[in-house]
Amino acid sequence: MINLDYTNHRIIGVQRINNELFELTLERSGMEFTPGDCVALYTDTDKSRPYSIASGANADTLSFIIREMEGGEVSPWLAARQLGETVRITPPFGWFRPGQDIGDAPFTFIATGTGISPFLSYRDTFEKPPEHCLYGVRRKADAFGFDRLQNWCPTQLAVSRENPASQHHGRVTDLLDTLPLDHDTHYYCCGLESMVNEVGDWLQNRGIQLMNIHREVFFHG
Ligand SMILES: Cc1cc2nc3c(=O)[nH]c(=O)nc-3n(C[C@H](O)[C@H](O)[C@H](O)COP(=O)(O)OP(=O)(O)OC[C@H]3O[C@@H](n4cnc5c(N)ncnc54)[C@H](O)[C@@H]3O)c2cc1C
Repeated sequence: MINLDYTNHRIIGVQRINNELFELTLERSGMEFTPGDCVALYTDTDKSRPYSIASGANADTLSFIIREMEGGEVSPWLAARQLGETVRITPPFGWFRPGQDIGDAPFTFIATGTGISPFLSYRDTFEKPPEHCLYGVRRKADAFGFDRLQNWCPTQLAVSRENPASQHHGRVTDLLDTLPLDHDTHYYCCGLESMVNEVGDWLQNRGIQLMNIHREVFFHG
């Protein structure tokens, strides 16, 4: 049964990361969740979209990394909110459980853009790091959380629309050949649909079982 106990959460931060991305921080108000969970955020005209929680399960606040979509119904409205206002949200939901429910098996994270959020939540909740993390962004400035990830596990960044000196210039899927391939490993892919599908096909073509490939699509295309 779906739990329809929506709650209003006070906004305690709307922090611009760059001209497209921002971090929205809400009072947690006792909400329990598991890394990988999303909530739907509502506008004042009852439009809603799901957003993945980026903060750790033990943090005092709930945070989200949001890409403001030009002409969008919900993300520009969220970007324009002021401190002290409230946002209505659903209880957490989700099936994507990075690094969880797999016993001692090794695991790998692969993200594009704001698809890094569930992995940041995992990182701030659990001790065991992934064996590898691949992170694809358009511009280096979009790589929110990259330094924290890099200091925690082997992390490679792919930047598609710039050519930064020390990172791969191109798509994150160019880096798949650098991943350790192992039939026990679980692979968690999150972000753009085309990346998630391409990674899934690539892994399956190399004999990785479907049950070891976990997907969460944020954006179609
Ligand atoms: C499970 C889940 C979790 C999600 N978590 C996050 C999250 O943590 N952070 C986050 O930023 N988003 C996340 N999303 C996406 C989010 O739910 C919205 O779809 C997004 O914010 C756009 O909503 P909007 O109302 O602003 O734009 P909409 O009104 O839905 O669309 C605005 C315009 O953008 C276009 N558009 C749609 N996708 C793209 C694209 N990839 N590139 C260019 N244009 C596009 C549409 O065609 C439309 O013209 C998640 C989605 C899902 C399904």
